[in-house]
Amino acid sequence: MNLRHLTARFVSLLGEAGIRENEPMAAHTTFKTGGLADLMLLPRTEEGLVSVLRVLREENIPYHVIGRGSNLLVSDEGLRGAVVKLADGMDNIDICGNTVTAQTGAALKVLCLEAIRAGLAGLEFAGGIPGALGGAVCMNAGAYGGEMKDYLTSVRVIGRGLEICEIPASAMDFSYRHSAIMEKEYIVLGATFSLPFGDPRTGMEKMNELNARRREKQPLTYPSAGSTFKRPQGNYAGTLIESCGLKGFSIGGAQVSEKHAGFIINMGNAFSRDIYELILYVKEVVLKETGVVLEPEVKMLGEF
Ligand SMILES: Cc1cc2nc3c(=O)[nH]c(=O)nc-3n(C[C@H](O)[C@H](O)[C@H](O)COP(=O)(O)OP(=O)(O)OC[C@H]3O[C@@H](n4cnc5c(N)ncnc54)[C@H](O)[C@@H]3O)c2cc1C
Repeated sequence: MNLRHLTARFVSLLGEAGIRENEPMAAHTTFKTGGLADLMLLPRTEEGLVSVLRVLREENIPYHVIGRGSNLLVSDEGLRGAVVKLADGMDNIDICGNTVTAQTGAALKVLCLEAIRAGLAGLEFAGGIPGALGGAVCMNAGAYGGEMKDYLTSVRVIGRGLEICEIPASAMDFSYRHSAIMEKEYIVLGATFSLPFGDPRTGMEKMNELNARRREKQPLTYPSAGSTFKRPQGNYAGTLIESCGLKGFSIGGAQVSEKHAGFIINMGNAFSRDIYELILYVKEVVLKETGVVLEPEVKMLGEF
């Protein structure tokens, strides 16, 4: 899609640094795969974001909103239209008493550390998740018994009509790796948590211990998007995949990790197509051998 005619308009709204043409998505996903996005927009303020969304709507340009790309599989053919990346620049964290308000781009690790340093507990589980707040709230990311929803009080969003509103967490329909943000197509601007007080040393020890468990069990030295599949009820995707003898199985440069069968990893030269085909193959074998339908947790963007 040729969007050259809009370049000057976007530059006037975001500055030269806020717009990139033909941007390789491999540089914006933790899988390190994916073709070119026609246009990437990097707003640094809420006003900038709303203005570019208005132009995209007026001009009927399709767009995807992403955070730090740690749960994405982007087509090798790239993405037509625009990618709006909400990460650096919209990452402020504000702590007052036990109330933590953060912007969408805040890295979870930083959020967790700042909360711990302020004597607040409850976010230690998120210290090893490589995403940003917006993506994590959207996915209701979780680990080691904690989930984003646990201490969330409200989420600040842009709605379909480009209105900005603060929605109570209770109205967000959170469940396992799901929130209303997906169906309502909200764009998360930020979120507020009310956290219990805790001892910073204990918090830091807890976060370090959970991160050590990750390093021990997960293939963190290879590009991936974390767990490829959602946890099926009463079971674990990794256990089922391993029981089907698929540990180490590969297609092209994509492999079912030898260290943790729940992770598909990029061995270094994978295309998104390899990862996609491996996902389909694993699903098929697990269904045939165990009768369990695995559902990808990873979000796929573009044509597959
Ligand atoms: C090594 C590794 C370990 C991981 N461990 C975990 C784990 O323990 N638990 C877990 O839950 N996940 C885990 N993940 C997956 C991932 O980190 C989380 O899902 C994370 O919350 C995604 O955040 P992100 O900013 O990278 O979002 P992205 O991957 O950029 O986007 C994910 C989804 O959120 C949407 N989205 C992003 N930002 C916004 C926004 N501002 N408004 C609306 N929608 C938005 C996107 O459209 C997309 O659908 C892991 C990933 C890796 C690579």
